[in-house]
Amino acid sequence: MRVPITHKLWDAEPVTHDASARRAIVVRSDGCALHVPGAEIWVGVRTPGTEVAERVERIEATLDARDYNIVNADGHGDSVLVSIHDPGLITYLQSAYERWTDAGFVADPGQDRVVPYLMPTPGMLDGLPEREPTAIHAAAGRWCYDTMTLIGPGTWTAARAAIDVTLTAVDHVTKGAPLAYALTRPPGHHVTRSAFGGSCYLNNAAVAAQALREAGHERVAVIDIDAHHGNGTQAIFYDRADVTYGSLHIDPAAGWFPHYAGFADERGRGAGTGANLNIPLAPETGDDLWLKAVEQLAAHASALQASALVVSLGVDAALDDPESPLRVSVDGYESAGRILAALGLPTVAVQEGGYHLDTLGKLVDATLTGLGG
Ligand SMILES: [Zn+2]
Repeated sequence: MRVPITHKLWDAEPVTHDASARRAIVVRSDGCALHVPGAEIWVGVRTPGTEVAERVERIEATLDARDYNIVNADGHGDSVLVSIHDPGLITYLQSAYERWTDAGFVADPGQDRVVPYLMPTPGMLDGLPEREPTAIHAAAGRWCYDTMTLIGPGTWTAARAAIDVTLTAVDHVTKGAPLAYALTRPPGHHVTRSAFGGSCYLNNAAVAAQALREAGHERVAVIDIDAHHGNGTQAIFYDRADVTYGSLHIDPAAGWFPHYAGFADERGRGAGTGANLNIPLAPETGDDLWLKAVEQLAAHASALQASALVVSLGVDAALDDPESPLRVSVDGYESAGRILAALGLPTVAVQEGGYHLDTLGKLVDATLTGLGG
């Protein structure tokens, strides 16, 4: 039985919203379905992946049936993207598949997706400069930190379409919409400035936060409710005070991705000291503790006086999701949305993970309903 959450932080000053005015505008693109990773190479074994195009199709079908205002993304230039990511990463992603096929790997040894075999770790280089290798099979490990995040013919198109979806959602909010939802795929929060992985290629949420900064918001809060720690978003803003990052996630110390980041003692660095907040949760955590953590993240964003909010909206903490051992209910997601709505901030929600196809749509709908206040 779920214990009701008390909104003690905001009881003194309740924020009231016109429910219809905060109905999310949904931004989507045909391009996001073009990425077909085909598989994941996990512990050396080619396994079926769960980050499939049907994810966005299922979410959109549910939201369409619920009469959301669904709009297509507009094209945007690269200016925000290149301020978030190393141009070398962008160039690599644009060209990797063509280089791979040109090198003949599809026929020999029979690998139809770009996958690293060698990663230049700091220990391997031991202080030597990180050079750009000439061979594509070596370059693959220069920019990708795992073997699960394969590149196929539509990967770049989809990842770049997700950036357009994100920036269009930001446009709606900067023009006055209180809430916009970017129906992005592939997800993005595991991508650092210069390395991708975790089924992510470009960091959509980080691009949203940076675009809101450039639109005049002096401080933007990113709150990440995906089941996994958003190591990429954390890394991108770790030294900055103007974009704060808060995440609740399955405890990496319990043996979960991304393993090397997401610990509670990671609080930011330099000007960003104190702006980063991680709340690792034990396997089997359900609504009660999960929602208390959402309240802590909201309080953190409020204390740092953010004027706009980006929600990294992963729904893979849900009970039925195959990718995490958290046990959050549909009602829990709606409550999380309501807690974040109480901040009263213009909000861009960006789709991250969520892999249980039968419940994805209603989980996203519930969260957006909550975010509507
Ligand atoms: Zn996740």
